[in-house]
Amino acid sequence: MKPTDFSHHRPSTVDGAAALLAELPDAKVLGGGQSLLPIMNMRLASPEHLVDLTAIRDLRACTEADDQVRYGATTTHMMLEEQLVPDCTNGLLPHAASGIGYRAIRNRGTLAGSLAHADSSAEWPTVMSALDAAVHTRSVRGTRRIPVRDLLQGFFTTTLEDDEFITSVEVARLTPETRWGLYKMARKPGEFAESLAVALLRPKGLELWLGAARDVPIRLTNTETIAESADLPDLLEAVGTDTGSDGHQRQLHAVSVQRALRAAQHQEVTRV
Ligand SMILES: Cc1cc2nc3c(=O)[nH]c(=O)nc-3n(C[C@H](O)[C@H](O)[C@H](O)COP(=O)(O)OP(=O)(O)OC[C@H]3O[C@@H](n4cnc5c(N)ncnc54)[C@H](O)[C@@H]3O)c2cc1C
Repeated sequence: MKPTDFSHHRPSTVDGAAALLAELPDAKVLGGGQSLLPIMNMRLASPEHLVDLTAIRDLRACTEADDQVRYGATTTHMMLEEQLVPDCTNGLLPHAASGIGYRAIRNRGTLAGSLAHADSSAEWPTVMSALDAAVHTRSVRGTRRIPVRDLLQGFFTTTLEDDEFITSVEVARLTPETRWGLYKMARKPGEFAESLAVALLRPKGLELWLGAARDVPIRLTNTETIAESADLPDLLEAVGTDTGSDGHQRQLHAVSVQRALRAAQHQEVTRV
């Protein structure tokens, strides 16, 4: 199928994009188009106007500080995968990016677009929740900083206003001692996760996050307390408590958590 008619706007400044989104009725932001355009092709969405962010140079900029990196909104999965932008996570971001869809999707799909799309089985919502990242946004009313954990409200639902867009994603640097593991359970390469676990072994302790289990990524607080010494039956029970899942789903999630944790435990500590 093909989308219904729409007007394509391609502003070259952040101010211009904010003004268009405030003025135009029924407008949607266009990032990489790798989720929105298929949805429009299927006529599940028919916006009258698309405000394309990809000509705005400021949104491709990446800025580094001692304690964090800010990735411009149109930073693509491929740019993270290939480390065309700095990695501040001891390799977690490039690894997560490399597992997203196929190369053609990674070439165009954006970090901010994935967060705004808010699919809990996608990589970035879970990874960015685990890293306690934040988005910076813009509208004609001004700017906001929203922690990703607050941004994500449910399936395809965020706290963004209709005329507000993400300008950058702020990620705090992981300490050199922090080890991570990510395990994506999918039927075949290129598909969305059926279970997506992220384990962070920080100096202060273990943090476990899980995607594809509920409408938003969840932190496995019960599982964290026993996971490092638990065998699979104990993990099954704790993961069941944290996720509310049972049967096959619970088994999938427990195994992906176990594999993410093992990957973190066996990762060599980065020396800088
Ligand atoms: C076949 C296929 C396989 C895929 N596999 C995976 C996978 O395994 N893992 C995974 O994580 N993803 C997967 N994806 C999704 C892909 O990663 C998309 O790139 C991503 O979900 C959306 O990013 P985008 O830049 O393309 O956003 P778009 O498609 O342009 O937009 C998506 C939504 O976000 C909004 N939006 C975009 N940018 C902004 C912004 N800066 N501010 C506010 N709102 C914005 C749009 O209005 C729209 O509502 C797959 C997609 C396809 C088609």
